[in-house]
Amino acid sequence: MTTENETFIWQTEQFADIRILRYRVDGFENLSLSQKYMVWHLFQAALAGRDIIYDQNYKYNLLIRNVLELILETQPKEETSADFQNFESYVKQFWFSNGLHHHYSTDKLVPNFSKAFFYEAFQQIHEDHLPLKPGQKKSELLEFIAEQLFNPEIAPKRVQQEDGRDLIKDSACNFYENVLQQEAEAFYASKINPDPERPVSWGLNSKLVKQNQQLKELIYKSDGRYGKAIRKIVIQLEKARQYAENELQREIICKLIDFYETGDLALFDAYSILWVKDINSTIDFVNGFIEVYGDPLGYHGAWQSVVSMRDEEASKRFSQISSLASWFEENSPIDPDHKRADVAGVSYKVIKVIVEAGDNAPSSPIGVNLPNADWIRSEHGSKSVSLGNIEDAYEMSSKTNGSLEAFFLPDQQERIKKHGSIASKLHTGLHEVIGHGSGKLMPGVATPKETLKSYSNTIEEARADLVALYYITDPKMVETGLCESEEVGKAEYDGFMVNGLMRQLVRVELGKSLEESHMRNRQLIASWVFEKGKSENVVEKISINDTSFIRINDYQKLRQLFGELLKEIQRIKSEGDYVAARYLVESYGVKVDFVLHTEILNRWNQLGIAPFAGFIQPKLSVEKKDGRIVDVLVSYPDDFKEQMLYYSRNYSFLPVLNE
Ligand code: ZN
Repeated sequence: MTTENETFIWQTEQFADIRILRYRVDGFENLSLSQKYMVWHLFQAALAGRDIIYDQNYKYNLLIRNVLELILETQPKEETSADFQNFESYVKQFWFSNGLHHHYSTDKLVPNFSKAFFYEAFQQIHEDHLPLKPGQKKSELLEFIAEQLFNPEIAPKRVQQEDGRDLIKDSACNFYENVLQQEAEAFYASKINPDPERPVSWGLNSKLVKQNQQLKELIYKSDGRYGKAIRKIVIQLEKARQYAENELQREIICKLIDFYETGDLALFDAYSILWVKDINSTIDFVNGFIEVYGDPLGYHGAWQSVVSMRDEEASKRFSQISSLASWFEENSPIDPDHKRADVAGVSYKVIKVIVEAGDNAPSSPIGVNLPNADWIRSEHGSKSVSLGNIEDAYEMSSKTNGSLEAFFLPDQQERIKKHGSIASKLHTGLHEVIGHGSGKLMPGVATPKETLKSYSNTIEEARADLVALYYITDPKMVETGLCESEEVGKAEYDGFMVNGLMRQLVRVELGKSLEESHMRNRQLIASWVFEKGKSENVVEKISINDTSFIRINDYQKLRQLFGELLKEIQRIKSEGDYVAARYLVESYGVKVDFVLHTEILNRWNQLGIAPFAGFIQPKLSVEKKDGRIVDVLVSYPDDFKEQMLYYSRNYSFLPVLNE
């Protein structure tokens, strides 16, 4: 790390349960001018879609955001009352979550400013500025928004995953209107694929509505739903296309434009296939409707964008992972029938993010593996990406906050300090490249989404994590130099078990169970191996001064247990065994021990560290000479609120009421 890194302010503020961080894009200045122009337009295309995710998350989000921002901007600068500060913190949480519901738990955010303050502040907004519907009175809008914010009965949850409920009716997300879960499932089950071997990702770019007793999809496209934002995206993509680094990249951008203009999902598949093949460009980007975690049924894609440049040095270091892909598959503990014969085509690179938007911001993933369509992955491979500078920012900001000491035994701490950074990068690489890229479905078995339903995400994440855990302690790791010693794998095991059994609970409210797929998968794995290894004391819970710790007594045996569970999880996916998926997730991945949870939360609260973190995006600006652009510069803003307001002022392209 350079000295610049040491003086850089990684964390700018903390509010509610959130820390705001910044990340650096070192090396941006060395890009060619043409590459910088392309990034400049891709950057604009990313921000142009920001409103879409708000609307997808909840149908009144844009309206509510508009009112919240008006209040914030109407309040006098010198206002410092507790109510105002709590209000400001609430608005920041709202931005952080891209709407009314917590980005992680998806529960509705709870305002801790008074209703009286809200009414008073609202009244100060001039009527002309308010987003009133024709004929709507100011007081009516006020009542409506107040109900949205303060009434816990209204839209309590964005994504409902609880077994046995109507997942659509009980979810506030905006992917359905007047539709029941059964109707939606039947609608998509009845879709006919022109090529059954290559199923279309039905629903990925639409909202499903019932009008006059008829189900119909409102397609996201230039002249369809979200058209106003999509047309802005297309304009920027057209400009970016002129600066493409090579012919393939130009074609990729063309296909994406065609997809946005027609909404034809076959074009999206064609785009994805081209995108997988582009492993040589320095600049890369994702811009589209991608991940389906925001839809309880997993059909509709949330809009997102990442613009990045390749981290040449780190990519080279980890390229061995992809070159070993076939070896990994051959030596995997899974049933031979469930192995992929041909694992070529999985590429891995480390990138430096330049900007993220939509579902990827302000909270960011650290690894991405796309495309999602299973048939494209098995025929054309997938691209696996680690967001290196995002990981660095997390690490730099949390080096000295005391959390390591609070959850780990002294020898574990030492190991993690020495090897934790490389261990977690390796885990991410193995998870993304080998994990998601491995295994196959048995002939005739439908996609996991259809067979495993709401458990499919948890099972898939568990599968990928287990592959990483199984291999990180393989002798091959040290042989090939990917790990400098066996200690790296041990550091990862310590970290994973402590996180899965205890530490991740800091993200959950007391009394609640686990809902998010990654959390469920981590607890599923950790508590399953804990239980199975109990008779041999493979892993034990110990208590020192009434504080619980986890100690691994036999790392080799633990590895075997990871292998056993991997075999079973792969079988579940390959055969589409819903009953077994449900059993594993519900018995190991959902319930939380109340006493332990209380202890963990107390320990965490003493540290005073917010459990979630997200980012202020870098800012790009152009330098002009004699009216011509001569350079594109990157800078690092340090005020989250300013950035959010700036985005809302400059990149709001959708009507606040998009009904
Ligand atoms: Zn994953």
